[in-house]
Amino acid sequence: MKGKAALELLEPYQQGKQIQDIKDQYGIDRIVKLSSNENPYGYSSKIDAFLLEHRLGFDMYPDGYTAELRTALALKLKVEESEIVFGSGSEEIVQMICRAFLYPGVNTVMPKPTFPQYKHNAVIEGAEIKEIPTKGGYLDLASILAAVDDDTQVVWLCSPNNPTGNAMAKQDFYDFITRCPEHVLVVLDEAYYEYLDPVRDLESIKQLPNFKNLIILRTFSKAYGLAGLRIGYGLAAEQIITKLNVVRGPFNTTSIAQKLALIAWKDGEFLNQTISNNNRVKRSFQYFLDQIGWEYYPSETNFLLVCTPKSGIDLFEYLIKHGFIVRPGELLGIPNTIRLTLGLEKDMEQLQQLLLTYNNEET
Ligand SMILES: *Cc1c(COP(=O)(O)O)cnc(C)c1O
Repeated sequence: MKGKAALELLEPYQQGKQIQDIKDQYGIDRIVKLSSNENPYGYSSKIDAFLLEHRLGFDMYPDGYTAELRTALALKLKVEESEIVFGSGSEEIVQMICRAFLYPGVNTVMPKPTFPQYKHNAVIEGAEIKEIPTKGGYLDLASILAAVDDDTQVVWLCSPNNPTGNAMAKQDFYDFITRCPEHVLVVLDEAYYEYLDPVRDLESIKQLPNFKNLIILRTFSKAYGLAGLRIGYGLAAEQIITKLNVVRGPFNTTSIAQKLALIAWKDGEFLNQTISNNNRVKRSFQYFLDQIGWEYYPSETNFLLVCTPKSGIDLFEYLIKHGFIVRPGELLGIPNTIRLTLGLEKDMEQLQQLLLTYNNEET
């Protein structure tokens, strides 16, 4: 039995070690997971309150149109309901985009490093991949544009970019989308949109009427704290959404995800708390890194890419023994760094102690 040829080039997603395994292996009872950019403050307490009072019926299929959540999003974001697509996480929308627009003989352009699922899914569809190195972590928009040709179907822009953390400037985004040929679908992945300093908002949604080749991806997994629910959304002109709806599974988001995402969506207070906590922790952790002379990339997100004195793997191995899980940059394509989620204040203080000890031992 032979699968698609492209599958020989890829491996299944290697998930990080499960918390219980690490506890057993190192004999520690508390693990702080700073490797997947989840929200350390949890999610809206209105969700738990709702779950205590309501029993949801799981016997029926969900609403495949996700009507209630769709109406709420359309209203607040000022888009048409027909301009929204939902996915089981925005990751599933990445998959739908590749399935709908990529095939052998065409190419797709993306930064490097960036979110790995763009490449992974593009390879499965047999498209040629063009990867354009970032400059100091910033997307090199001029080189990305220069790589676009008649056979380019999709360009991926992740802003703020994972794993580097920096964001595009609004004017640069506008210039790019203006110059990019209309036959190219421009994907703007704004998974960390809510963390962005409002003065750096690309106001991408306002560009949707002008650019029928733009799709914006956002998610409930990060700032809303609902990574386990699996729900995200895409915004684009109806012609694009219709194509994605053809490849979308009819019941791709669950009834509980739809319901709870709506509750989270309405709780602006929780979101504001998350952002202000995150910014406070970010400032004080950056101050600490400045003190010990470690460099880091500018971040508009809930994570930080930090340059390490030895390899990122070496620091990863040191930290995991003490109960902290981070992502070594070696696995993300940027050696001698680690990417870490900005956690709770008390955990970050403990992390700082560990980094201090590590730094003294290494230098
Ligand atoms: C986390 C993340 C996503 C995917 O999140 P979902 O949980 O699938 O919604 C997409 N893009 C980037 C850049 C991310 O960091």
